[in-house]
Amino acid sequence: MDAKPSRTFDPDLYEPGSEGAAGRCSHHAAADQAACTGEAVVSFQDPAGRWQSGCTLALEQLVEDGEIQPLGQGA
Ligand SMILES: [Zn+2]
Repeated sequence: MDAKPSRTFDPDLYEPGSEGAAGRCSHHAAADQAACTGEAVVSFQDPAGRWQSGCTLALEQLVEDGEIQPLGQGA
């Protein structure tokens, strides 16, 4: 599985009313909220091609798991 590109968080990528549009971390919205810093810093696409948002911890975890590329690399 290839790591997906990541980019600096951009609220305009998200549906109005979603976690991302509000600047929150959608990666932790469903689970593991205690570990979440809440504020989105990265935008990335999930395997279904939907835009997700991640806090600093989500970014760390996803890069470690090989799900996304470190911020600032790629296109
Ligand atoms: Zn989070």
